[in-house]
This record gives sequence, structure tokens and C-alpha cells, in this order.
Amino acid sequence: MSRANRLALLTRHGKAAVLGGVAEALGLELQLIDDFDTDSLGTFTLERPRLGSQFDAALAKAKLACELSGCRWGLGSEGSFGPDPYLAQAPWGVELLVLHDAQTDSQVHAVAQGPALAYRQASVSSLDAAIAFATEIGFPAQGFIIGRADEPWFDKEARELAQLRQRAEQALLHGELWLETDMRAHRNPSRMAMIAQAGQVLAQRLHERCPRCEARGWAPVGLISGARCDCCGHATSAARAQRLQCAVCRHEEEKPLRETVPAARCELCNP
Ligand SMILES: [Zn+2]
Ligand SMILES: [Zn+2]
Repeated sequence: MSRANRLALLTRHGKAAVLGGVAEALGLELQLIDDFDTDSLGTFTLERPRLGSQFDAALAKAKLACELSGCRWGLGSEGSFGPDPYLAQAPWGVELLVLHDAQTDSQVHAVAQGPALAYRQASVSSLDAAIAFATEIGFPAQGFIIGRADEPWFDKEARELAQLRQRAEQALLHGELWLETDMRAHRNPSRMAMIAQAGQVLAQRLHERCPRCEARGWAPVGLISGARCDCCGHATSAARAQRLQCAVCRHEEEKPLRETVPAARCELCNP
């Protein structure tokens, strides 16, 4: 198969196993580039901070995949973690996939998000507490990182409790030990599941074609407010339509969602 028929993916973290559906939706073959260290683009453990937005980071990986492979299509994946957007109390994960078409210089993206089930950090002062942390997060299926990058006991590759024991004993002589879950996809099963979900959304999106130029990736890009209050007729901030846009020619259309909303959603009737 020629390079025009391949979708390149930079990964050392086993994401290919869950992203085959994206290539399939395009009728392409997935080509892995696993000899490039994606950690050099920024890591979760702050050894190298990431620059720019999550979209920029995913797009940079997708473009790099095209450049390194000579493929027309490249796929970039980037996750972010923080407090949930509702109450800011639970850890929240956002997985973004960006598909780059080097020929038309256009992108189609998809997002999956939800509670980040394995996003935890702890500072422990005893060996028992360190082992309890490992057990609670589901080690060894879920990986974890021992210490901080500049500490001599720093270890991202522990696979057995014996390794934790040894590192912890060393670290605890100097004070508390920092532990955190490994957010790299191959060491974080719940994150991998969310990347798979983003892959399904992207594959679905690639099946939809632009009504004007027929490019793939005709997709919702936002909401249009202005649904009318069913009591007073005021145009509320609630969405009345979805905005769909072509990733290639930028053609846009509106898809109506609802004409009216209950007065409870109205800023005038229910301020
Ligand atoms: Zn179009
Ligand atoms: Zn009203």
C-alpha cells in the first residue's frame, strides 16, 4: 500500500490497539512510528512541561507523524487532567484526537471526557501508606510513578511491589515520598478506555461528509443560543441549534435542536 493510503500514528504507549477504527473509517492502514520518543514533546510528570493548548499539542503530534512517515494522514492524541468542570471536586480527564490531512492541511478532531478514574497523587510518610496507595489504584495493571523527576529514587517503570519497597525505604530516610498514578496510556487502563471512546467518536465523524465539498469530517463544532422561552418568548441563552462545519472548505450549516425551552430556563421569567 502506498503512503497515501496510510494513517501515521506516533506512539510508544500502545494506543494503536484502540485506534484501528479511525483508520478503518478512512479505508486506510495504520502505520505506527514507535521509534520517536513522544515524551520529548512534554510529559505528565513535569520533567518537560508541555507548551500551548491541548489541541496544539495533539496537532503537533499528528503533523510530526506525517513528516516522519511521509504519510498523507497523521493522528495525534493528547490527554489533559484536572478538576471536574461542575463542582471541581473530582479528577476529570479530557482525551483529544486530531486527525491531520497533510494534503489539504485540514483537521478533524474528536473528544471524550469524564471522571479520570486513575488520576491520583499522594505524599506518604510510611512504607505501609505507600503500599496502600499502590493497592488502591490497582497496581500493577495501573502503573504509578515513585518520587519526583529530580529525586534519586524517581522511578516510572516499577512493575512489582518489591521495587516500590526498595525505593520507598530509600526515600523515607529523607522525608516524605511523593507518589502519583502513571498517566501514560499503556500504564493507565481507564485512560486507554477513554482514548478508545474518542477514537469511536472520530471514526463516526469521518463517516459524515460535507454537503458542499464531500470531504469527510462534517461535524458539530458548537451550539447556537437563542431558544425562546415558552412563556414570554424571550430568546434565552439555551441552545436552539447545533453549528456544523466542514473541516476542509469551512462550509457551515445549522441543525435545529429546539424552538422553545421551559420558563425555568428563561433569564427573565426565572432570573
Ligand atoms: Zn466542505
Ligand atoms: Zn420567559
